[in-house]
Amino acid sequence: MSGPASSRFDPETRLRLRRVWLGLLSYLMFLVPMSIAVQAGSSTMGWWGVAGFTSVAVTVNLLALLAIASGWSKRFADPSLLVPQLVAAMLLALAMIHFFEGEARSVLLLLFVAIFFFGLFGLSTRQYLRLTTGTAIGYLAISIWELAGSDAPREAWLVEALRFSALVVITIWMSFIGGYIASIRRRLAAQRDALEKANSKLRELSIRDELTGLYNRRHLTERLEQESERGRRYGQGFSVALIDIDHFKAINDSHGHAVGDEVLVQFAGILRLQARFIDHVGQAPERTLGRFGGEEFMIILPGTSLAGARVCLERMRAAVTQAPFETSAGPVPVTFSAGLAEQRPDEAAEALLQRADEALYRAKEGGRDRLELDPPTQ
Ligand code: GH3
Ligand code: MG
Ligand code: MG
Repeated sequence: MSGPASSRFDPETRLRLRRVWLGLLSYLMFLVPMSIAVQAGSSTMGWWGVAGFTSVAVTVNLLALLAIASGWSKRFADPSLLVPQLVAAMLLALAMIHFFEGEARSVLLLLFVAIFFFGLFGLSTRQYLRLTTGTAIGYLAISIWELAGSDAPREAWLVEALRFSALVVITIWMSFIGGYIASIRRRLAAQRDALEKANSKLRELSIRDELTGLYNRRHLTERLEQESERGRRYGQGFSVALIDIDHFKAINDSHGHAVGDEVLVQFAGILRLQARFIDHVGQAPERTLGRFGGEEFMIILPGTSLAGARVCLERMRAAVTQAPFETSAGPVPVTFSAGLAEQRPDEAAEALLQRADEALYRAKEGGRDRLELDPPTQ
């Protein structure tokens, strides 16, 4: 599967399909020793037997390809269908054993080794042992059936015993090594998952303010840039508000820095709660609230007009004014001032922020505990 056809599948499915192709290739490669054995007369299967082997191998692999490519196999714990494919291969190889004699039969044992190697794609030691025990029992049954039926000489039994013991040694060895390799692969996969999780946690931490848990300045600036870029490109406006706690220095001065921190945390909690509140009907894109620095906060309101932003901020202001800020130094009254601005067509983030900041300055000048908009006429 290459070219445009392979892009229809997700990477895992592509890998599973590639394994099936590899399996089919291995079957077909066995046609070479098999044909030589038929030609040399060491096999009783004949050319019809070779044709039969080929068609069974091709059918098994086509079924596997179909089951995987259609997504049907995803309903199983093992969507790669490794175990059923290996069992099919093992049964086919056992059937072949019966048609091979002498040296040729010993060579055929390699077929089993090839099958067991495929188990490295994910069999556990227990699954390996089940597969290899099945193979050994099957092999034993075939040879006893053949030898007991005839008047086989002692040597024939011994040769068969030799092959059988070789098979058992190979299979036990494969079971443990294979299971070990599979466990390493699983551990690597688990480590990769843990690493990915740690990475996303780090990413999350890098955009958060430590004290309040809100987004930090870096993230706010980034979101502001994104929103402003989108506004310029698609014409979907947004508003931004700069929020600054009034006389916060006085809270610090009279109660200490720790109490100031308590106030900041509670303040952030109230804003977060209010930011989630959607005033108008219909879907509004998610708002971004963060701590811009010190006792200054910012909220970005996508798809929101200046009037809409004002409604949201007025509600926040009422919530903050009414909230009991219970600190370890007793209740502390808190108010804030805010400057609001809506992005103008083609306005850069910096210019927008400048206007919001100017509005905030006016709110402070005008006596605090209020909102000011830019432009101020609304
Ligand atoms: P205004 O009404 O004009 O905004 O007055 P203000 O006192 O709030 O403003 P000012 O900028 O003079 O003071 C802000 C204070 O916030 C000064 C600084 O020590 C304090 N501050 C900044 N970051 C923190 C913090 O993380 N924790 C605490 N407790 N205080 C902080
Ligand atoms: Mg302040
Ligand atoms: Mg300030």
